[in-house]
Amino acid sequence: MARVIVIGAGVVGLSAARAAARGGHEVVLIERGPIPNPHQASWDSHRMIRYHYGAAAGYTRMVTEAFAAWDRLWVEIGATHFVDTGAIAIAETEGDYVHRTLAAFREVGLPHRVLDRAETAKLCPQYKLLPQSFGVMAGPGGPLFADRIVRDLARLVETLGVTMMPEAEVVAIDPGTAAATLADGTHIRGDSMIVSTGAWCGGLWPSFAGLPVIRQALCYVEPPATYAGAWNEGPALVAFGDNGGYTLPGVEGTQLKFGYGAHRRPGRPDEEGWAGKPGEEKDILAGFGRFVHDIDQYRPLRLQIGYYTMDATREFHVETEGRTIAVGNCDGQMFKFGPLMGEKLIASVEGRLSATDLKNWAAGR
Ligand SMILES: Cc1cc2nc3c(=O)[nH]c(=O)nc-3n(C[C@H](O)[C@H](O)[C@H](O)COP(=O)(O)OP(=O)(O)OC[C@H]3O[C@@H](n4cnc5c(N)ncnc54)[C@H](O)[C@@H]3O)c2cc1C
Repeated sequence: MARVIVIGAGVVGLSAARAAARGGHEVVLIERGPIPNPHQASWDSHRMIRYHYGAAAGYTRMVTEAFAAWDRLWVEIGATHFVDTGAIAIAETEGDYVHRTLAAFREVGLPHRVLDRAETAKLCPQYKLLPQSFGVMAGPGGPLFADRIVRDLARLVETLGVTMMPEAEVVAIDPGTAAATLADGTHIRGDSMIVSTGAWCGGLWPSFAGLPVIRQALCYVEPPATYAGAWNEGPALVAFGDNGGYTLPGVEGTQLKFGYGAHRRPGRPDEEGWAGKPGEEKDILAGFGRFVHDIDQYRPLRLQIGYYTMDATREFHVETEGRTIAVGNCDGQMFKFGPLMGEKLIASVEGRLSATDLKNWAAGR
């Protein structure tokens, strides 16, 4: 049995703490805010899980493993915080993200369905299709209810005997000795340490300091009555050509959500906070006008702001030094892999997965 220090209680840190506790280790989970913390990337009504990953066949393959890890978690928490609404990507032009996704599905042999234009229009009447548009579906896919998940994960790890240290900011670490120093001067030492501090990863891990910190805002909306059924009973939208818009249906007490890739920008969470800017809802909706009918009839309800690190590789970065493993570049993509990442990190701590294999797996290779 080892003593494992986990810094950061987002979906990655909570999942690592759970996997370590399940492995019989003594675990200390340190979080600078409350646990769970509503000011973290892992906190929102929902996050999407889907197989569609453009040309990134490695991440497409990893989604099957991710679903298996979620299934193990549902058993432990006694609830399934996921609905298989299906997930669709709608192609517009030759070579776009959806064409690349389809090629990757064929390459990895992933079962999928190609819907012709008429079938796509029937399933998703709310979208403006081009004459050459078609849909690509693969399942399962849909919303993971993120805030319910991190709340239940926090309860679970506490039940498993993890020492919870909320409101405790780590200001320095020594990777070689798996030691952390808190803002109040307390030193905590383990046999192994995991650094899973999301958008703040550069603060403790120097080689992550250059990763761009990104602010993203998502907009919850009320659709017009004409399309309410199509939205709430239809699939999640992963991509519309290369447009960058995606949607999650309002199911199980959640609301319809719009996200728009082009709305991302560099951000500073500690200075800017989690409130929207005036008129921001309208900017997000404007991005949807090109492919959603009657966009002016959608009523913005609220914004959800989040931060993550994302560089041009779009690959998760896992680095090791001494007795410590750090996770960075979680991107707008890590939630779906949270429990699986936790299991892989602890497999590496226990020597069942080499550092090289862990890094390559995280990079989707
Ligand atoms: C707007 C948005 C939409 C997204 N959509 C999706 C999606 O649809 N599907 C998907 O799979 N992923 C999505 N993601 C990405 C996913 O949510 C993140 O990649 C994932 O939640 C990252 O988890 P984490 O545990 O690494 O980080 P976080 O959840 O941010 O947790 C990090 C924690 O570390 C704590 N911390 C930081 N510094 C310290 C310190 N020095 N000491 C102690 N604690 C510290 C923080 O307070 C925080 O609680 C989205 C992200 C955002 C922001």
